[in-house]
Amino acid sequence: MLITPKTKLASIGKITPKYAKILEKLGLQTVEDLLFYFPFRYDDFSKVVPISEKYLGKVVTVEGKIIKTKLARIFRRHLTIEEIVIQDENNIPLKAVWFNQPYILDTLKEGVSVRLSGKIVLNKKFLSMSNPAWERAAREITNTGGIIPVYSETRGLTSKWLRWQIKPLLQIAKEIPDVIPEEIRKKLNLYDIYTALRQIHFPENQEKLLRAQKRFAFEEMFLVQLKTLQVRLLWAKEKSVAIKFDEKLIKDFVSGLPFKLTNAQRKASFEILKDLEKERPMNRLLNGDVGSGKTIVAAIATLEALTAGYQVAIMAPTEVLARQHFLTLLAILRNHKINIALLTSSYKLACHSGLDPESSRTDLNYSLDSRLRGNDTRGNLLKKIKNGEINLIIGTHALIQKDVNFNNLALIIIDEQHRFGVAQRAYLQQQTTEINDGIKGKIPHFLTMTATPIPRTLAIALFGNLDLSILDEMPKDRKKIITKIIPPGGRKEIYNFIREEIKKGRQVFVILPLVEESKILTEVKAATQEYKRLSEEIFPDLKIGLVHGRLKPAEKEKVMAGFNKKELDILVATAVVEVGIDIPNATVMIIEDADRFGLSQLHQFRGRVGRSQHQSYCFLFSTSNSETAKSRLQALVESENGFKIAEKDLELRGPGQFLGTLQSGLPDIAMENLTNVRLIKVAQEEAKNILKSDPALKNHPLLVEKMARFSQNIHLE
Ligand code: ADP
Ligand code: MG
Repeated sequence: MLITPKTKLASIGKITPKYAKILEKLGLQTVEDLLFYFPFRYDDFSKVVPISEKYLGKVVTVEGKIIKTKLARIFRRHLTIEEIVIQDENNIPLKAVWFNQPYILDTLKEGVSVRLSGKIVLNKKFLSMSNPAWERAAREITNTGGIIPVYSETRGLTSKWLRWQIKPLLQIAKEIPDVIPEEIRKKLNLYDIYTALRQIHFPENQEKLLRAQKRFAFEEMFLVQLKTLQVRLLWAKEKSVAIKFDEKLIKDFVSGLPFKLTNAQRKASFEILKDLEKERPMNRLLNGDVGSGKTIVAAIATLEALTAGYQVAIMAPTEVLARQHFLTLLAILRNHKINIALLTSSYKLACHSGLDPESSRTDLNYSLDSRLRGNDTRGNLLKKIKNGEINLIIGTHALIQKDVNFNNLALIIIDEQHRFGVAQRAYLQQQTTEINDGIKGKIPHFLTMTATPIPRTLAIALFGNLDLSILDEMPKDRKKIITKIIPPGGRKEIYNFIREEIKKGRQVFVILPLVEESKILTEVKAATQEYKRLSEEIFPDLKIGLVHGRLKPAEKEKVMAGFNKKELDILVATAVVEVGIDIPNATVMIIEDADRFGLSQLHQFRGRVGRSQHQSYCFLFSTSNSETAKSRLQALVESENGFKIAEKDLELRGPGQFLGTLQSGLPDIAMENLTNVRLIKVAQEEAKNILKSDPALKNHPLLVEKMARFSQNIHLE
């Protein structure tokens, strides 16, 4: 059978239907897809040494002849132990031990030469390796003896299997057309796609691996920059309605707030209102820390546009957040006569804001609960949106893509909650130029909000000439969140503390990390286990809820609503779950295995507490002994400034990792190698060059094809 990059994996004989199914679940359908399934780390077994005590404690590869084998069974524990002893020219024996893999001894028989990679330790005076990687010495280096790729594993799919499949397929990579034009590759000395794929899967040495990673990092950034620049060029040609600054309106509104705006909020609002006055469409990013008060700034812009007689749409990444924005804006705008609609797949309802005189958020939450259930029909709402009866529409990002016809939409606000990468943001922006806004020849003003502070230098490099407003100042009355690193021994004390807080009426978040090796499945399992452990062993008397990424939106919502209404004391959640929610009564946050998260992400979680007059706490559980891990977490203990933390994160992990959390959907391995802002700049430069000579990319169909996938990375609810 002739295999090409487009050949379906399922049609390859070596890949059984069972495996094809698992691969498909990972989104891998073709040979090319599989070749672009990159390792997430490597085991460096490239040091091949003679068997010797000299290498005790070192990770190495040894080769020798098997002089003895043994299979032991421990029936009571259903355990088997496989043992071999090998020897090389030095005649020093080395023992290798595996557990529960009796089939190993079918291959590894006495007299066979074998290569083993692992750490040499001393076991009862014997040099030995526990559970080493192995292969017959006669075989080509695949699992031992080199820099060995380790893939993200999902149930039933091992790195060993993937290596075995990918290695022979690498030949096919010769036929994959290179998206990076040759001139650019030459100029920047980048590997071609074939070499890069070979070296990223089976690197000959660290230097070549680095070069391969650099190529993919460039590729990624180049495509991102192309996309953003292209959208920007389109944008510059468009016009918007000019909305005059209504000083009295804004002054009255601000003086009616229960708090004073921070200077940063004042400045950002002013910048936005100035933008709205212009005929060219605003394209601004409101870059602010969690809790810095972005919603009020958004509300000010909204009020201005609504009062001028236009419609406004506010979009959030999830239904939970859309619902929250709906309630918050109803409360904030209650003194203004506005018809607000919440339109998502589970909610189709409209309210008149003036009808809700309740003064406190919580009351509003309760009183609206019944109404949140009283759904209208989608058709009815669409009609009211089209004829202008509804002024403010709140929904998920799907709103932008669905066939919604507006009456006179002048402003779109997108709450990104840092879910989306730079390219996805550009894509959403592009969608706004295509929306049926109801105003001839104009497009809406565009404001996005991100919840991860992005250090200015990086933001400028990434977003080019995009306008930035920065909320780098927290509301004054904010209490400091007491943050502590808790070593394993301190767990019990914290649980006692939690119990006390709950007795006082407070609530608690428990966040579990994303387990890298197998992503979602293990994560769900870990969360479920922790939920069981807490509810059965630690706090059997308390009410505990669980949310994770595998729940349906409606189920998620139900648990969240229960937590919001204090029906639950503790909420166990995984990191994939949107925690961008406002539950002021939750004052304690526990983060398990905190060292596995990036600092900015930890800071993001921490921002979920500290939202009420009560003292809040964040406990970072960590079992890591590494000094770097400790000093990283220490940065969080010492600072509450998101921009400072982001800068530290950037400094410690490099933009690759840092951006990794922003660039959802991009291969981490490529991002990891983005070691400086320079790479972004170079990519930007090259993207500009191409667009100058070929603005519609007519001569670069491959680039167009690759760029199309940015839209697919947006998961709309
Ligand atoms: P975020 O920037 O994370 O979206 P929010 O807009 O949700 O932050 O604001 C967080 C909380 O702070 C809200 O309860 C809001 O009412 C409150 N808040 C906003 N601005 C101020 C301010 N200037 N002073 C005091 N509290 C404020
Ligand atoms: Mg917010």
